[in-house]
Amino acid sequence: MGLSKTIWTNPSEFLRIEQPDNPVMFFAPAVLQATARQFIDGFPGLVTYAVKSNPEEMVIQNLVAAGIQGFDVASPAEIEMVRRLAPSAALHYNNPVRGRHEIAYAVEMGVKSYSVDSRSELKKLAEIVPVGDAEISVRFKLPVAGAAYNFGAKFGATVELATELLREVADYGFIPSLTFHPGTQCTDPMAWDAYLRAAAEICTNAGVKARRLNVGGGFPSHRLSTEIPQLDAIFALIARVADEAFAGEPPALVCEPGRGLVAESFSHAARIKGLRDGEHVFLNDGTYGCMDELPITGIIDRIAAVSPEGARREGEARARVIFGPTCDSVDRLPGEVDLPEDIAEGDYLIFSGMGAYSTATNTRFNGFGAMVIATVMRLGL
Ligand SMILES: *Cc1c(COP(=O)(O)O)cnc(C)c1O
Repeated sequence: MGLSKTIWTNPSEFLRIEQPDNPVMFFAPAVLQATARQFIDGFPGLVTYAVKSNPEEMVIQNLVAAGIQGFDVASPAEIEMVRRLAPSAALHYNNPVRGRHEIAYAVEMGVKSYSVDSRSELKKLAEIVPVGDAEISVRFKLPVAGAAYNFGAKFGATVELATELLREVADYGFIPSLTFHPGTQCTDPMAWDAYLRAAAEICTNAGVKARRLNVGGGFPSHRLSTEIPQLDAIFALIARVADEAFAGEPPALVCEPGRGLVAESFSHAARIKGLRDGEHVFLNDGTYGCMDELPITGIIDRIAAVSPEGARREGEARARVIFGPTCDSVDRLPGEVDLPEDIAEGDYLIFSGMGAYSTATNTRFNGFGAMVIATVMRLGL
């Protein structure tokens, strides 16, 4: 890549000039900042960002520029990075199980907010975190469906245990709060309804007024061309149900979106290495690269095909199997995907809405995974 230009007009300009043989992630800061403002203006409380969904430093910096003042961090490395890039931001250490050295590091870095879903981890926190003005949020779960996959499978206390833990948090003298995560990519606003009502029940039964209620991530991104996410409907439901459930006096609300904030600000371009006997598509990226998540959360069908000259392929749709570059046969995108019938070797497929759980889970398996990030003014071709 001989050019020194660092901000490109759009993806097709970059592809036409650079002809990259490695996968490219196109980042549009303007899109990220606009999404952040949509959350800040629409969500009825504090908006924080779940760093794990995309920890690129450019992402953190642009979120700060857009007015995001809090971050959900899960490890010392994430704490170190956010402190460095956003020294005055609030850090919420919402990984419910941590090693003692990790907790000690967080205390040293001034972290004042932690989540917990078990007695053993609450005891551990209480041994290391000075009471002072520290907040401990009890994370609970419900047996509800509605998300792309079940977050309750790993974390979250039952409503009964959460009730006891909330009481114990208050008894220790910490600021008692509650948190849940309804599951990722919740397209139905009702995913939040039962959780908000259960939170009120936990407070009543514990006899504890929660200071804050964190309603998680789970906000959907635009993955399927036929299904446009309705963020405003979700914000409205959260405001209304929180008010109803807590009889007009809800705790201060917090959200910690990852996907919903970052996904739309990146598009991903992968090159067609081969069209095997005119049938199956082999890309230079796949499920061990930036597309790690697609077999779990389902395909993104917002795909454009462009020729090496940057011209969009407009042929009739034809369903194809898409494989990634490794010699592992699970390296395949789910199902069959509609692509223009006139695609050819050397073309690029550009997937929209790829900013979450993509750059961060890219591996070097089988010698692939050398990925480039290019900044663009806009993502439209
Ligand atoms: C991953 C994670 C999130 C973000 O989830 P999304 O579905 O990407 O919005 C939020 N909170 C916690 C505690 C998480 O682990």
